[in-house]
Amino acid sequence: MQRTIAGDRPFVQATYTAARLFHKGSRCFRPPANDKVTPIISSTKSRAITPDQLAFDRHHLWHPYTSLVSPLPVYPVASASGATITLADGRELTDGMASWWCAIHGYNVPDLNAAATAQLEKMSHVMFGGFTHAPAAELGQRLVAITPEGLNKVFLADSGSVSVEVAMKMAVQYQHARGEEGRGRFLTFRGGYHGDTSGPMAVGDPDTGMHGLFSGFLPEHFFVGRPPGGFAAPLEPDYLTALREAFEQHGQHCAAFICEPVVQGAGGMHFYNPGYLGVVHELCRAQGMLLIFDEIATGFGRTGTMFAAEHAGFTPDILCLGKALTGGYLTLAATLCTDAVAETIGRSEAKVLMHGPTFMGNPLACAVACASIDLLLASDWRGRVALLSQNLSLHLRAAAQMGSVKDVRVLGGIGVVETHEAVNVAAIQAFFVDRGVWIRPFGTRIYLMPPYIVTPEETEKLCRAIVEWLQLAACRVKA
Ligand code: PMP
Repeated sequence: MQRTIAGDRPFVQATYTAARLFHKGSRCFRPPANDKVTPIISSTKSRAITPDQLAFDRHHLWHPYTSLVSPLPVYPVASASGATITLADGRELTDGMASWWCAIHGYNVPDLNAAATAQLEKMSHVMFGGFTHAPAAELGQRLVAITPEGLNKVFLADSGSVSVEVAMKMAVQYQHARGEEGRGRFLTFRGGYHGDTSGPMAVGDPDTGMHGLFSGFLPEHFFVGRPPGGFAAPLEPDYLTALREAFEQHGQHCAAFICEPVVQGAGGMHFYNPGYLGVVHELCRAQGMLLIFDEIATGFGRTGTMFAAEHAGFTPDILCLGKALTGGYLTLAATLCTDAVAETIGRSEAKVLMHGPTFMGNPLACAVACASIDLLLASDWRGRVALLSQNLSLHLRAAAQMGSVKDVRVLGGIGVVETHEAVNVAAIQAFFVDRGVWIRPFGTRIYLMPPYIVTPEETEKLCRAIVEWLQLAACRVKA
């Protein structure tokens, strides 16, 4: 997710016939010289993407982690329902990504559609400064009820990255309130990923993340090696020593330790023993630091428990949630904290938590989030994730035998095939689309995080496509 892979073949071959588009007298975009000029203001009613719009997209719209000079291919989507995404040309793809891990119930979900429609008829948004409303209060109640005991205070943010920014600011304000000056830094594991705004970027992995590019701009924090791999692997004494040393060396400068509990997602789909978190918790206490769990990827059942914190068996001081919070319908995130954190900030000189985005507590997103949580709780989500887990293990097993594969691992609804060499995203994606599946690898990680509602047949189809790709790649190497 974090890298662009060079040498990709452009997918969108449509002729670029963009025109000048005038909107209220201002230029919306200017086509490159020599381009044929045709009107491109198309109807938004049919919502079928036109060749002109595809060309516009290619030349004007940034997609995640791509270039506007040589963009990676994009596939136009017409609709999505259940675990199937339908492309504009009619091809149907079984979804292995849950739209970057958030569409846990699949797409076009009747309960979520109904919640959105009902809320739209009341109000889609009002400011949260000075106003409140039932969807926000109901969501707050649900989050306090289902998250680990003691996380009673809720900040409703507008995206995962922002919820991490808020968590970091909470920790700094907390330390400030206690008169602990000089604690403006954070300690974290290498290999983490916490979002793309500057605060989270600065605690993302210093090597594979974006530190080099943004050095001088990003604040500098402290890193300790990532915990050795394997959810069930025994704790390694040498690593525990390194962990203790890092806390002793840097602890007094740090507001908090921040990490993704149990699964480091975009930083490498790395699973580790939750026992390390217990040690981190103790060390945080000893050093007067808070502990922040970023469960934006792991929350809402993905690792087999409702929150990954449950594997660790204790409550962090601050918890970030996002992604699956609205079942993938709308952007919304939340930062929860303990009474102690909120009360300390509230009694400080500043008194207030210094954050308040425009779309904070958006009623539409909150209403859908409530419906998504209700749907999850009413379903046998544990059983579904356990079944998905079993099927991922069963059908990815064949990949473990292949020479190009370094490791195959499964935890809850996450299946990972780690290869020795980085994959060519454009080429592998074209292959997968041809096989009727949607899987988007990054670097050396080909992984699956499907909606929980996938059938065993769909899981098998997803895994089979990965194994076939590896077999073909092996043949190519031999030839
Ligand atoms: N934290 C983690 C663990 C994530 O996986 C992500 C997104 N991949 C984020 C934070 C950032 O969330 P968003 O993209 O919604 O800003």
